[in-house]
Amino acid sequence: MVVDVSYILKEHSEDATQASSGVTGILAVQGAFAEHAAMLDRLGAPWKLLRAREDFDEPIDRVILPGGESTTQGKLLRSTGLFDPINEHIKAGKPVFGTCAGMILLAQRLENDPNVYFGALDATVRRNAYGRQLGSFMATENITTFNTDGTKSGIIENFPLVFIRGPFVAETGPNAQVMCTTNGNMVALQQGNILATAFHPEITGNTRVHEYFLSL
Ligand code: GLN
Repeated sequence: MVVDVSYILKEHSEDATQASSGVTGILAVQGAFAEHAAMLDRLGAPWKLLRAREDFDEPIDRVILPGGESTTQGKLLRSTGLFDPINEHIKAGKPVFGTCAGMILLAQRLENDPNVYFGALDATVRRNAYGRQLGSFMATENITTFNTDGTKSGIIENFPLVFIRGPFVAETGPNAQVMCTTNGNMVALQQGNILATAFHPEITGNTRVHEYFLSL
């Protein structure tokens, strides 16, 4: 999906400024945030970009951490002051969806990186896990969804997976549920209201994973 060039100028959806609830904050310090905004517009869901600490002063019900470069995003989270309010949001159990670099930011453990960012997702994540040759590829898999108690709640069938120098999950702890595997690798996890995918649903044109996130 190619994002409309008008997204360069958009800071929020039309309805986000009046909305007192239901707004999704999209981290927009670096990376593929516009693609998530376009996806939420297709679903009619209010959103605003999170660029500075003050952007969190208005009601934010859910947060998206987009793909990009996790080390850069980690530094910018600190320098913008956005780290603390997003961390509090996650620790309060409110919905958060990390794609690719976002999955890295959410993980409790990184296999090949000394950093830990939000440290919320009970998993060990390996950055750039597929090596140079297989850095970017596509697949189609079913995605399982879970209730907060860890029981299965449904299946998103035949979802297109797009990987762009993504991570995979090397190991999960008891709190994280595996939503999806491909080529024997775990590539999507759910832990209560935390969703994390190593792939990029926002660039597929298929809205079902975002719809599921909005239902949390
Ligand atoms: N390779 C990136 C990282 O390790 C993630 C890639 C992506 O988000 N598309 O931070």
